[in-house]
Amino acid sequence: MNAIAVSPVQHVGVIGGGQLAWMLAPAAQRLGMSLHVQTPNDHDPAVVIADQTVLAAVADALATAQLAQACDVITFENEFVDLPALTELEASGVRFCPRPAAIASLLDKLDQRQLLNRLGLPTPRFLAIDPATATESELTVLGFPVVLKQRRHGYDGKGTQILRSLPELQQVLQSYGDTPLLLEEFIPFEQELAVMVARSQSGAIATFPVVQTYQQDQVCRWVIAPAAVSDALQTAVAQMAQRLVEAVDYVGIAGLELFQQGDRLWVNEIAPRTHNSGHYSLDACQTSQFEQQLRAIANLPLGSTALQWPGALMVNLLGYEDRQSDYAEQRQQLAALPGACLYWYGKTESKPGRKLGHITLPLTGTTPDERSQQAQTLLAQVEAIWPNYSSIHQP
Ligand code: ADP
Repeated sequence: MNAIAVSPVQHVGVIGGGQLAWMLAPAAQRLGMSLHVQTPNDHDPAVVIADQTVLAAVADALATAQLAQACDVITFENEFVDLPALTELEASGVRFCPRPAAIASLLDKLDQRQLLNRLGLPTPRFLAIDPATATESELTVLGFPVVLKQRRHGYDGKGTQILRSLPELQQVLQSYGDTPLLLEEFIPFEQELAVMVARSQSGAIATFPVVQTYQQDQVCRWVIAPAAVSDALQTAVAQMAQRLVEAVDYVGIAGLELFQQGDRLWVNEIAPRTHNSGHYSLDACQTSQFEQQLRAIANLPLGSTALQWPGALMVNLLGYEDRQSDYAEQRQQLAALPGACLYWYGKTESKPGRKLGHITLPLTGTTPDERSQQAQTLLAQVEAIWPNYSSIHQP
């Protein structure tokens, strides 16, 4: 049988021009690819690195058709797209990685949960609800606390709320109009885990190390790689990721977020793109999640995902005030921390909770305990320079 001929990919279109697209640039340059970006604002982070920018909303499929004219393949840094319209574009010959059919079950949290259940992957128990008509027995069936989620367009915890009682839940529901929602069992997890997985067109799969993520107010504050979990749990997480990408014939990179309690795991969410929990890989892994995304969609051999440091701490630099500033002095101080790799996304406006940059620091300890202690010390050092917005904004 002849090998399948795959056209060499030189021009990559990216739907979305935030920091995830911006961080593709060094890998694209190494691989000899140009980046073409579709994003709504000319001050979005990736505009400065793009060879071409189509200034349009990510859900504007006419703009995607325009983007496609210059591109061999189109990939995603933002999943808030118009999928039926992209499916039509695909039928007219535009190549997407992942294909619209592969992400069809990943854009709505209810569809995600149902897909995971069909694949036998564990999730929190859930219930789709209509805020206008939900009955008291529906609202109480999962007990309290309970987690209420917007089915679509949630990110960084926007659209996710933890509610402690029926009156609290009923009150919140009033503000939702007829937005479709998901009600979900609250998992009293020990830690949150995440893993990035890449699958290339040839079906090769590579998983990155399993990491621990820490969310405060539903926004990721820091990540430690690798997570302090048993080999058996790491294997289980990697197998879940593999199972998922194979089942939907996924080509590209995806992130899985999970809850862990003892030996139990629950999949919380799937991101059909690069993810904040994989930023550490830019410096701590032999191949970054960004290079791996480009390799996967170009059907190049996937790179090694091995850590090249004993461990890494990634801290998000979240805005803690409303201000226009480039925070030059703080950035200088952060960059001077030992081994610091600082990324500043070039956003001109700071708002509480907005992701403005991140810093990755090597962890040199040889045991999980040593690395965890080191991470706490380093986190305190980072927060002495860059305040933790949650502690400032607590009511
Ligand atoms: P988003 O899609 O906005 O990222 P998530 O669904 O990932 O929102 O939830 C954000 C955070 O809220 C999670 O990382 C976790 O800390 C908390 N959370 C979400 N669902 C649950 C749950 N079922 N049980 C406990 N905590 C949860």
